[in-house]
Amino acid sequence: MVTTARELAAEWEAGRRAGAVIGYVPTMGALHEGHLSLVDLAREECDLVICSIFVNPLQFGLEEDFESYPRPVERDLSLLRARDTDVTFLPSWTEIFPGRERVLQDFGTHVSVPRLSHQLCGRSREGHFDGMVTESLLFLHLVRPDRTYWGEKDFQQLRIIETLVRDMRLPVTVVRGATKREEDGLAMSSRNKNLSPEARVVSPNLQRVLKDARIRTLSGEPLPAVLAAAREELTSLGFAVEYLVACEEESLTEVPTLDGPVAVRLFAAARLDGVRLLDNIRVTEANHG
Ligand code: AMP
Repeated sequence: MVTTARELAAEWEAGRRAGAVIGYVPTMGALHEGHLSLVDLAREECDLVICSIFVNPLQFGLEEDFESYPRPVERDLSLLRARDTDVTFLPSWTEIFPGRERVLQDFGTHVSVPRLSHQLCGRSREGHFDGMVTESLLFLHLVRPDRTYWGEKDFQQLRIIETLVRDMRLPVTVVRGATKREEDGLAMSSRNKNLSPEARVVSPNLQRVLKDARIRTLSGEPLPAVLAAAREELTSLGFAVEYLVACEEESLTEVPTLDGPVAVRLFAAARLDGVRLLDNIRVTEANHG
C-alpha cells in the first residue's frame, strides 16, 4: 500500500523500467465483486496492477452521503491483496488537495464534459460529474496508467471518462467491465448494504423490469408505452423512479424509437427505501437493421 504520490511514482518508475504494462482501477472503496472483477480484468491484461481508494468529496453534493460513505479500509486492503493487486494507492485528503481545507470551495480547477453530464444522473446530482471527472483526471495524471478499467454499471460515468480521454488525447486506453450482479440480478453496489431486508428482496425487480421492457420493445411494442408501463410497475412495487429512459449509448440522448442505426440502452435510477439504485441494459447494437 502507498499513501503518497511520490511513493506511487517510484512504483510506476520501477514498473516502467521493467517494461510493464500498467493497469489502473479507480475506486471509492467498500469493495465488492463488481470492483474486483475490474481488478481481475486488469490482472489478465497488465503486468502492474494499481488500484486507488479515495472517497472523492468533489463528486458529492452537500446533501449527499460523503461523511457516511462506508470506509472499511482493512477489509478492502485484504480483498485487493487476495486478488493480486500490486499497488494500492490510498492517499489522504491533504495528499490530494494540499493546503485546501474546504475542498469544494477552494479547489480552483474544474474539468467538465458538459454534453454528457446534464442528463440522466446529472439532472438530480448537480455538479456530480464535474467533480468526478476533475478528480479522475487528477488521478490519471498521478497514476499514469496504460489501461484504466471502468464498470458499465455506471455507464454515464464510463462514457464521460471515454470522452475525456478521447478529447484530451490522454495516452491511456479505457477498458469497459461488464456489470457484476448478485445471483438474483441486483447490480452490485457499495450502497446495497443500506437496503433493509425487505427492500433487498424487492430490489432485483429493477433489473427484471428493465429486462422485460427490453424484450417487449424488441418484439415491436412502442417504446414510450413500454417505458410508461415499466415505470408504473416499479412504482407499484415501492420504487420512487427518478428516470427510466432509452438513450443512445454514444451520446446518451433519449430516443423515441429503436429505429435508428445507433446502439440503444435502457437506463434507470430509482430509490427504494431511501437507497438510490442504478441500472442499465443494452437493447440494440449499433447498425442493427
Ligand atoms: P465506485 O467505487 O462506486 O466509484 O466504483 C469504482 C468502479 O467500479 C467504477 O468504475 C464502477 O463503475 C465500478 N463498479 C461499481 N459497481 C460495479 C458492478 N456491479 N459491476 C462492475 N463494475 C462496477
